[in-house]
Amino acid sequence: MSWGYGKDNGPAHWHENFPIANGERQSPINIQPKSAKYDASLKSLNISYDPSAAKNIVNNGHSFNVEFDDSGDKCVLKGGPVEGTYKLLQFHIHWGSCEGQGSEHTVDGVKYDAELHLVHWNTKYGSSGEAVKHPDGLAVVGVFLKVGSACPGIQKVVDALDTIKHKGKQAAFTNFDPTGLLPASRDFWTYPGSLTTPPLLECVTWIVLKEPVTVSKEQMDKLRCLCFSCEGESHCAMVDNWRPCQPLKTREVRASFQ
Ligand SMILES: [Zn+2]
Repeated sequence: MSWGYGKDNGPAHWHENFPIANGERQSPINIQPKSAKYDASLKSLNISYDPSAAKNIVNNGHSFNVEFDDSGDKCVLKGGPVEGTYKLLQFHIHWGSCEGQGSEHTVDGVKYDAELHLVHWNTKYGSSGEAVKHPDGLAVVGVFLKVGSACPGIQKVVDALDTIKHKGKQAAFTNFDPTGLLPASRDFWTYPGSLTTPPLLECVTWIVLKEPVTVSKEQMDKLRCLCFSCEGESHCAMVDNWRPCQPLKTREVRASFQ
């Protein structure tokens, strides 16, 4: 059985095929703001996205990915905790079956309703496939989402979901600026971690933004209309596609703000 989020193939089983699930720098984690160390040496986060790099939207059976053309230098992340230049590859979201759960990272044990991940790879490795083999291969920006007022910047994504309801579906998705998914503040926590889905590779510098973004109940409910399953298979709503928090072990969480 391939991995998923069900009782028989969910996060508690992932270690069977991916033993690194019990590794030393797994994600997500519970962030304890009082224990996070303010690091004055952290640079400010420099994110620059060009809408013309957006390419496709895909239902991969675990979430949906909005994919970007990363052949040029149109969408880049620099600064913050990382050295060099990282390019945007894709973004996706993790969400719950109801409000009060859905995020992967938690803050003082509190779950947000969803969590956006913008995945960037370190250009010094030449390709995203090579980058994931290295401890500084990826920089993922995490943005907490909570139900409140609508987020205009996410509406185009929400409207595209009808066309990719089932696993394996893909559609063109162009002229989109992910900057509209970010909060006003660039304050962040950072720590060394992993992918939160198999193969759970320990290649991620996490940059979790402190300020959440609100989306409307209607926007959140549209995510819950996607399916884990393929067309023609029995319906299985894509909800609760989040991994629970993992042990911090010897790691330290740093904060860009006081
Ligand atoms: Zn993710």
